[in-house]
This record gives sequence, structure tokens and C-alpha cells, in this order.
Amino acid sequence: MKIVYTDNNATTRVAPEVLEEMLPYFSELYGNPSSMHSFGGNVGREITRARERVAALINAEPDEIVFTSCGTESDNAAIHAALAANPEKRHIITSGVEHPAIKNPLEDLEKKGYRVTFVPVDGKGRLDTTLLYESMTDDTALVSLMWANNETGVIFPIKEIAQRASEKGILFHTDAVQAVGKLPIDVKDARVDMLSLSGHKIHAPKGVAALYVKKGLKFSSFLNGGHQENGRRGGTENTASIIGLGRACELAKAHLQEMDTRVRDLRDFLETRLVELIPAATVNGDKGNRLPNTLNIGFTAVEGESILLLMDQAGICASSGSACTSGSLDPSHVLMAMKVPFESAHGTIRFSLSCYNTQEDMDHIVTTLPPVIQRLREMSPFWKQEE
Ligand SMILES: *Cc1c(COP(=O)(O)O)cnc(C)c1O
Repeated sequence: MKIVYTDNNATTRVAPEVLEEMLPYFSELYGNPSSMHSFGGNVGREITRARERVAALINAEPDEIVFTSCGTESDNAAIHAALAANPEKRHIITSGVEHPAIKNPLEDLEKKGYRVTFVPVDGKGRLDTTLLYESMTDDTALVSLMWANNETGVIFPIKEIAQRASEKGILFHTDAVQAVGKLPIDVKDARVDMLSLSGHKIHAPKGVAALYVKKGLKFSSFLNGGHQENGRRGGTENTASIIGLGRACELAKAHLQEMDTRVRDLRDFLETRLVELIPAATVNGDKGNRLPNTLNIGFTAVEGESILLLMDQAGICASSGSACTSGSLDPSHVLMAMKVPFESAHGTIRFSLSCYNTQEDMDHIVTTLPPVIQRLREMSPFWKQEE
């Protein structure tokens, strides 16, 4: 059976070009980039090239890129560095819809005596910037906000907020794991201090990522060890994956235009058809200000998990809007923060596309999903009550 993969905000396939460029570093080119001999040094040169390619995607300088093991590490390292640079400050600002890689470490810090402001969002997932600006004080060490939300695709006004933070002398970090490769990102124009990106969301392998650290920022490493990454991240480099990430960034740059046109059109087609064909379907998130690849859509009176199961039988991969990974059927913290009504939050599905998706994929979803929803609603006591 053909797989229709529309779960690219969860992870992406490794691009064939990326894999090809990585393969020699698993076999004959196994040198340590820190070695004095040229056998290792040659690998070091390829790491340098990867650093240049990652930097080029976000308009950074190569020496502002620190390679890490995952987006989660980049996020944790950014928080750690900001607090170490401002040991006297005890306040952090973030949003109520961050990825667990930011949410959980900040909740931990709260237990350790830091004050954390979780700025709320409205029904469309838009940040309350008035409250955000009012929360900035002399005691604020860090503002950390995602560039785009992984569940809804909603984009935050990062440039405007980074500007305000910088005027107040507050460090600004953005978790741009979902934005990179889907939107043009320019760290110089946006004037962010730190930015996280992750390989497996942009067709590089899992287990490699990067943190942009603005030149001149007092950075203290999260993973202390050897002098790798200019003393900013200990541990022998994951050479093959870093080289793969470099190639993936180059491809992502070349595909940005296609993301904004062909992929956006596919997403819009899917959205329009599903809303036309399925009664009581609602799109979650600010439609005018979303990632071009993401569709978060709720169907009243059905369970997201049941929809996923039936779509899976038709070879369609997507995600639901519940925290089912944790064994609970509660709606995700993102949908709850947006106050999406319970009946529709429960039946929420996220489709997230990539450059590998086709019109045929969309057609398959459009023919599969309406009868699935109808079948589930026929069995649902909640739907009967509404009729
Ligand atoms: C996937 C994701 C992460 C975590 O990245 P990993 O490389 O899986 O650790 C962090 N933030 C956002 C917004 C993500 O989508």
C-alpha cells in the first residue's frame, strides 16, 4: 500500500541527496575532525562547509552556529546560556503554547524559584503582545518564543518582539524548529540573540540540530566537555549527520519558494475540500498567518485517535490534537490554551505537508476522510444529540 505521509511537523524523510552526502562518513571517512592528521582534518573541513550552509539558510555567520544533538538540546542550551549570562535576574517570559522542549525546562525552573510568565494566546493562537510587553522588567533574563507553532502553524511576530526585548536589554531566543525551511529566516533582520533549528524537521536525520548564537553573546555551554564547537558544546561531532544537516539546509533554501507556492496550494486545496465536504469542521489557528504546510482541523463529536486509526488503514499518516503520546486523551495544551471547544478539540487532526507531497496525496485524503468522519459520527452519541 502507498503511504501518504502528511506528518512532517513530527518528522520528515531524509532527502536522498542528504543521505548520499552522509554515507562516506559512516565508512571510509571516519576520522575525528579534531585530529592533527589530515585524515581527520579533511572531515573537519566538511564540518566547516556544513556550518557555512546552515548559516546561509538563516543569514548568520558560520561561527555563530553551534551543532547540537537535537532541537530539545538547542532549546535547553539557550535557556541555560541566558540564565548564566544574567545570574542576578530571576524572570523569564515565554508563551502558553511552546513545545515541551521549552515548556518543561521552564516549568522546572519555576519550581527552582524562577518567575516564569506564560503569555496567553487568543482563540486563533495569536499572542497577547500587550501583556507580553507589560511583563518585561529589569529582572527579566530571557524572552523565549517559538517562531511558528508545531500544532497549528501559527506564526508569532518575532521581529517586533525581539526589537522590544533588545531595547530593554533582555536576551531573546526563538525556537524556530518549525519555521526554518518553511519561511525565509534572517537572524540579522529579526535581531534575535539565539535561534534553535532541528535536522529531522527539514529532511536531515534525527539526532542533529543547531543553535544560532549571536556574535558577542556571553555563551556558557550546556554540555561541558572537550573544546569542540569552539568550546560551546563538548562531545565528538556527529560528523555524518552534521554534514547531512548542511546539505539539508542548502536544499531547504532552494525549496523555500516551492513551500510558499506549490505546497501552500496543496494545503489550501485540502483545507477547502475538507471544509466543503465535512459538516461541522473548523480550522484552528490564524488562517492569515500560518505556516504554508500546516492544517489543523477539528471535527465535532468524533475522537481524533479513531480518525487516525481509520486513516492509517488507508495509508494516511497524520497527527491528532490530543496528548495521546502521554497516554491521556486530553486535548493538547496548545488547543486548550486557544480555548478550542472540547467537542471539536477531541476530534482534531493535524496534516503537515512537505515538498514530497503531491496532488494525488491530497486527492486520496479528500476521498478517504469524509466517509471516515461520517462512519464515526453514526456511532457517536454526541453527534446524534446535535442533530
Ligand atoms: C520537533 C520540535 C522540537 C524538538 O526537536 P527535536 O530535534 O525533536 O528535539 C522543538 N521545538 C519545536 C517547535 C518542534 O517542532
